Amino acid sequence: MISRRTFLASAAVGALARGGFAFAAAAPHSFRHGAFEVLVVSDGHLVLPTNFLAPDAPEAERAPLLSPAGQSGEQYESPTNLTLVRSGSDLILIDMGSGDRFMPTAGKLWENLKAAGIDQDKITKVIFTHGHPDHLWGTVDELDDPMLPNAAYYVGGDEWNFWHGDNATRGLPADRAGFVTGARRNYAKIKDRVTTIKDGAEIVPGIQVIATPGHTQGHLSVALAGGGGLIIGGDVLTHPLISFRHPEWRTQADHVPEQAAATRARLLDRLAADKSALIGFHLPFPGLGRVERADGAYRFNPIG
Ligand SMILES: [Zn+2]
Repeated sequence: MISRRTFLASAAVGALARGGFAFAAAAPHSFRHGAFEVLVVSDGHLVLPTNFLAPDAPEAERAPLLSPAGQSGEQYESPTNLTLVRSGSDLILIDMGSGDRFMPTAGKLWENLKAAGIDQDKITKVIFTHGHPDHLWGTVDELDDPMLPNAAYYVGGDEWNFWHGDNATRGLPADRAGFVTGARRNYAKIKDRVTTIKDGAEIVPGIQVIATPGHTQGHLSVALAGGGGLIIGGDVLTHPLISFRHPEWRTQADHVPEQAAATRARLLDRLAADKSALIGFHLPFPGLGRVERADGAYRFNPIG
């Protein structure tokens, strides 16, 4: 059983084994949601150019949204929150983190899972929100072997087709050519175990994917039934202030900016209306909160 006490106890043992305060892994966040047990584990963080966040927005409007988050420099740290869900005998991981070839500050998923007492071999299913490096490149180890050779993998059909098609090589900025190579390298190692899915697909009873395209062509979010609802939103909402105050602003990371903005608006409207919880992959750890309408836009209220 997943319990917060088990995680904390394991983390404490890890701390002793590694020499007390030198232990750097963030303690996972666990909670029960309806029939599910949910664990949010850090994969570390990314270091990104602050200009990635709304490059077209007027500086006078952008700065007040960045400075409260301590993001007044040229670079900012973006957390990466991985979600693991226990459903009966299934242990379902949503995304696989950065692995060891993207950024030295990320790729901590496996050590953090281990510190939390989770045996990675018990993970039965993986659902990918999309194929960007921080979500996909942890699929293989340093020898390009799958980290989870026996898991079943679920990838949006539109996402699979995008990364394997000509649009990926032609349609992305030149500085992201490596994303295509990396996506194909990781997908190739699991292709025999991949099921492509689309909007509404149910992975196990009560866990359903929602098409949330725009950040990438086939981006998916994951909805957990019960307990008032919980949406694991991947990269639809990536910044705790900008994504909620100005969902219409274009971000540098979105492949199809207008579609991404429309998807943000739709998801925010849904989250505010039905009051379901959200886990945002790049929101401050653990990225869990609820959305409310505020001042003509939205506000993210963290929980836990
Ligand atoms: Zn991301």
